[in-house]
Amino acid sequence: MSNHVNDTTILNNGIKMPWLGFGVYKLSDGGEVETAIHQAFEAGYRSIDTASIYGNERGVGKAIRDSGIPREEIFLTTKVWNSDLRAHRSLEAFEESLERLGADYVDLYLIHWPVEGGYLDAWRALEKIYESGRARAIGLSNFMIPHLEDILKMCSVRPAVNQVEFHPWLVQPELLKFCREQQIQLEAWSPLIQGKVTEIEAIKTIAEKYGKSPAQIVLRWNLQHEVVTIPKSSKSHRIRENAQLFDFTLSPEDMSTLDALDQGKRVGPDPFDFHF
Ligand code: NAD
Repeated sequence: MSNHVNDTTILNNGIKMPWLGFGVYKLSDGGEVETAIHQAFEAGYRSIDTASIYGNERGVGKAIRDSGIPREEIFLTTKVWNSDLRAHRSLEAFEESLERLGADYVDLYLIHWPVEGGYLDAWRALEKIYESGRARAIGLSNFMIPHLEDILKMCSVRPAVNQVEFHPWLVQPELLKFCREQQIQLEAWSPLIQGKVTEIEAIKTIAEKYGKSPAQIVLRWNLQHEVVTIPKSSKSHRIRENAQLFDFTLSPEDMSTLDALDQGKRVGPDPFDFHF
């Protein structure tokens, strides 16, 4: 259980990854992403989640360098995009990401989506990157159980992380159980249902009981499920609020109430049916 903003999970290759990270999807390159990361570092976050498709890797890299925080204290994730999988150019895409980030290495490199006909080949490329030491861990994103089984059958390096849409409307208990059994750390994207957590009555009721915000309740629920979480905000007060999760514990009853909100409802694309 995490009790401090810098607490970490230990991935299946022994490296440490913070339970809380800062997502930077839709933060524009340059000033916006740099300011937000600066505020996130001030609030205690040490993990940043970007992707080549977000178009902000240059700003992310600059914000990290300008922070003055030793690089080894920061956990940096980026991802290889679908068009690069289709073109079988994951190795080149990785070099391009490193160049934009101005970094020698990333902490975690993910396959962004399970592109049919592309992800097995991409995994072999990620294994080479891992063996070269330029990604401290490699993993997947948006992989459902059949996709994970495909990788597990052929891999020589096991995926360390699977980053998926995960929130109280989309709990996916079977995926959570599968990943736990396979020692693949589950990581939640859109943990705040892109802001909709503030509109859900059951969450608001629990929030009032603990004197916390709906966002804090849902992020704490992630942590108590041992799911890494990466909320995004461009507003400094929310960036701080989303990191203040470590001075309360949800009761088993309140965890169950949140679990029961599950409707299998996505706000993002379906990993079995996406066309991009
Ligand atoms: P999120 O659930 O984190 O929601 C972010 C939005 O919620 C904000 O834009 C804001 O409108 C609102 N919000 C933030 N803090 C709040 C607060 N305290 N109270 C009320 N509202 C608040 O959604 P997201 O940005 O889609 O996901 C988070 C991160 O996950 C992304 O930035 C990205 O890094 C990652 N992600 C990955 C994938 C993937 O395919 N791997 C897909 C989407 C997102």
